[in-house]
Amino acid sequence: MKIPERGVERTEIARQLEAMKRDDGDIAGARLFSLAYPTRDDVLEVAKEAYLAFFSENALNPMTFPSLRKMEADVVAMALSLLNGPEGAAGTMTSGGSESLLLAVKTARDHARKTRPQLREHGQMEMLIPVTAHPALLKAAHLLDVKPVFVPVTDAFTADVAAARALASDRTILVVGSAPQYPHGVIDPIGELAALAVEKNALCHVDACVGGFFLPWVEALGNPLPPWDFRVPGVTSISADLHKYGYAAKGASVLLYRSRALRRNQIFAYGDWPGGLFGSPSILGTRPGGAIAAAWAVMHYLGREGYLGLAKRSLEATRIIADGVRSIPGMRILGAPVMSILSFASETHDLFVVADRMQEHGWRIDRQQRPTSLHLTISPAHDAVAARFVEDLRAAAATPTGEPTGAAAMYGMLGSLPDRGMVNDAILDFMDGLQEVEK
Ligand SMILES: *Cc1c(COP(=O)(O)O)cnc(C)c1O
Repeated sequence: MKIPERGVERTEIARQLEAMKRDDGDIAGARLFSLAYPTRDDVLEVAKEAYLAFFSENALNPMTFPSLRKMEADVVAMALSLLNGPEGAAGTMTSGGSESLLLAVKTARDHARKTRPQLREHGQMEMLIPVTAHPALLKAAHLLDVKPVFVPVTDAFTADVAAARALASDRTILVVGSAPQYPHGVIDPIGELAALAVEKNALCHVDACVGGFFLPWVEALGNPLPPWDFRVPGVTSISADLHKYGYAAKGASVLLYRSRALRRNQIFAYGDWPGGLFGSPSILGTRPGGAIAAAWAVMHYLGREGYLGLAKRSLEATRIIADGVRSIPGMRILGAPVMSILSFASETHDLFVVADRMQEHGWRIDRQQRPTSLHLTISPAHDAVAARFVEDLRAAAATPTGEPTGAAAMYGMLGSLPDRGMVNDAILDFMDGLQEVEK
């Protein structure tokens, strides 16, 4: 494939783009989970209109586009107020959860360099991270040369605080907890983890990437949760993704800090460049204005009332699916999920085969390991298809499984390999080969 010598007609481009979607996950029919958060047509339209209105604007230079500066400040302020940020709290918009987490770890590292200079003689800095925390945190640790120290989880899949305490050292600079963690949708004991961080002179980051714009509605609907946001003393930063349950366009998250002084660690400045004075608050240089505008627009369009209504729909769909799963002999929900994320295991089924069968009906489900389970991130639009999902799941579970083939065989094999280095190599080979598309 080369850049065509002569340009292609717009109508032809549109036709080809549409045609290429043929084998994609079905967002409009809500037959996929976790990668898109389908809600209502009007919400999608508001996000798209705002995105297009700021399609070319660039938040790299806030002086040129005061509109974006204002919208980013508003989005951060709304998020801080939702998550009970105290007087003096601050934040930034980023391109997504991974960038928010990378910056949270960088802030912890640079804060420690400044406030605990004696750490330099103690070897590599460490962060305590539950095994269920998102791999973006490991990517951050890898990039920033901080050693991840893995905290095991209890039978409830929440971080084991006693183990964390035993693993903490005088090199600990950051304690991480999730609200909720992705694999099972349960909240780590944030209060105790934050108290441990305070004892160790470390920062405490709460990864609420998936829960930040959902848990407050669970609480508002009258379901008490253990406190996990800035109401917990010792929590120093929180990440929350707008492009998940904020229903904004992709490329939008917030990273919030208890104080501006903490946030300062995240900002990069370079005054000696011949190209001018350079300052950047995040990893990206050029930052798409559309993502900021869409987040601002959707938050205003929905309001608390709109978010509550959508949360109710997700929770209702979750109830239908959870009841359905429990009604299938052998299947059980893992842990006690607090919102619209759940996973289930089975004593009697090969769930990877069940997932392949579901995919034949258009359902894309995430496969998990340790233990083998299937995972669902449930969106508002799933309320219309939840009953159908359960029916298809029941049918898939009722068909006897032979020897696993296809994807199920691959997941089964990779899950059982004792040499995890080989698994990582297999992942690298796969990622490396992705651009060799069939014609
Ligand atoms: C989605 C998610 C992330 C990563 O966010 P991206 O936007 O995909 O980079 C981190 N933590 C949790 C708990 C998540 O669910």
